[in-house]
Amino acid sequence: MKSQTQVPPYKLIRSRRRTLSLQAKNGGLIVRAPLRLPQSEVERFIEAHRGWIEKRFAEQAAKERARAAFEANTDPKEYARQTAEHKARAKRELPARAQEWAHLMGITPASVRVGSARTRWGSCNAAGAIRLSWRLILADKEAIDYVIVHELAHLRQMNHGEAFWAIVARYAPDYKAQRVKLRALQRRLEIEGR
Ligand SMILES: [Zn+2]
Repeated sequence: MKSQTQVPPYKLIRSRRRTLSLQAKNGGLIVRAPLRLPQSEVERFIEAHRGWIEKRFAEQAAKERARAAFEANTDPKEYARQTAEHKARAKRELPARAQEWAHLMGITPASVRVGSARTRWGSCNAAGAIRLSWRLILADKEAIDYVIVHELAHLRQMNHGEAFWAIVARYAPDYKAQRVKLRALQRRLEIEGR
């Protein structure tokens, strides 16, 4: 007996490309394919990546559920009030903390400012100016210290090479654990839309 597997519904976009690609988005599947590739090849490709597709859909559904739960349990006004409070606290506390670390590490930043970057906890430039995201104030003390140490270390090493990580490890030996915590916090903030 021949087993009948059903290819999930998909939107096919053909273009002058050489390879096939898949995108799982908002519960829908988008396949990009070369102009003249036979439909059967396209479906074979989808079939071969079924595991990947199902995993992406499950992840997205979990995120949607988490967002719905968050919204159901949150008063927008109260949330906005809390956000303003966090921002104010970040502006008060983060630069002061950075100055303490700068002193300890013997590194002098040109400035330490608090901004509202969403995708990065901190950044620095060649002129020695450090920026920290106010969202960092939502992390615990050890994670905050790691980000500050990371940016200060860049004023010695403008890269992520071995020498750079050696400086970070000297002042934040458990930095790997902090990175894991920060990624989890990032995911939570994405769900909350903060
Ligand atoms: Zn870096």
